[in-house]
Amino acid sequence: MKKTIRKVLVINSGSSSLKYQLFDMKNEERLAKGLVERIGAGGPANHAEALKQVVADLGNPTDIDAIGHRVLHGAEVFKDSAKVTKSVMTQLKKLVKFGPLHMPPNLGGIEACEKIFKGVPNVAVFDTAFHQTMPDCAAMYAIDPKYYKKMGIRKYGFHGTSHKFVTQAAAKFLKKPLSKVNLVTCHLGNGSSLAAIKNGQVVDTSMGLTPLAGMVMGTRCGDIDAAAILSIMEAEGKTPAEMDKMLNKASGLQGLTGVNGGDCRDICAKAAKGDKQCELALEMLAYRVAFYVGGYNTIIGGADAIIMSGGIGENSTEVRERIIKRLAGLGIKLDKAANKKSHGVVAVISTKDSKIPVVVLPTNEELMIAKDTVRVLG
Ligand code: ADP
Repeated sequence: MKKTIRKVLVINSGSSSLKYQLFDMKNEERLAKGLVERIGAGGPANHAEALKQVVADLGNPTDIDAIGHRVLHGAEVFKDSAKVTKSVMTQLKKLVKFGPLHMPPNLGGIEACEKIFKGVPNVAVFDTAFHQTMPDCAAMYAIDPKYYKKMGIRKYGFHGTSHKFVTQAAAKFLKKPLSKVNLVTCHLGNGSSLAAIKNGQVVDTSMGLTPLAGMVMGTRCGDIDAAAILSIMEAEGKTPAEMDKMLNKASGLQGLTGVNGGDCRDICAKAAKGDKQCELALEMLAYRVAFYVGGYNTIIGGADAIIMSGGIGENSTEVRERIIKRLAGLGIKLDKAANKKSHGVVAVISTKDSKIPVVVLPTNEELMIAKDTVRVLG
């Protein structure tokens, strides 16, 4: 008989940090949560050493049944979470080119677990997997298809674990079967993306080959004319690596305002004091979200609800108000009082007569990873 999977460790292994959460899946309760920082930079020498610290922090547990890992990119190979076997690991290593910064530490975390938790199954849960139901008309770029064939250049999408979690939660909240639910899900945090969900499946999403596309984010520019990038490179003699850094780490809300990290709270505070660039940045953010909501609402043939999640979507009364004001054309109306008091909890923030409800749904990517781990092994 198969052993019931009860205790699941969730690992998010990044280049210099390792985050973990431990769940008891009997009641989906979180038992522990922690972070090991400065891996290879003054802290633990590598991910195996970092994991040893996690084991010590957890009091040397012997009852962990399975480990779920956040993995950035599954490309077209992994359309669902996968139990890690030798052949899966071989395939994963071939996907490093899709995420040269994130994939090596993601895989390093898995290898460390194989060594330290001998015999405990590992499951890879991909940020891209939930989006792999997109039709070609949404996923392909309008360039010579040889680049798709040779290099896999197309839209993949990210934050899939979060969009999946809120899609399932929204179906429950709306009392609709998952296979019938139509949504626009907005994950608005440091990184932000929207997804168009038709009959419980993704039909489009705003991030692309990499997480750089779509929304105006904390430090990423989002959608931009590719020719603008070429012009800057030419004028300033920037290398692709320098340009990558500028667009991913020094653009978006930070680039527009100079506020470090593009933290939305700081920008809201400065805008309230009359800072014009901060005001513009918030309006650009809200405009872009509303623009995509309109398009996605059309593509899915009308949403049952618009879902707000992520640090900004769950907490920022001000940004939500700016977005929802711009959705009046869809008959969406803000309930100001509900919007004001809803922080990090499930709440409807539209009025009763709003044509489409707007629902705040806190995301929980770690729990989704744990649930997927149980499902894949079950
Ligand atoms: P990540 O993408 O790194 O997971 P989060 O989802 O935690 O990020 O979102 C971080 C963003 O959420 C920051 O811009 C932060 O300012 C914003 N945020 C968090 N809490 C609030 C709040 N109470 N009001 C406004 N913005 C908030």
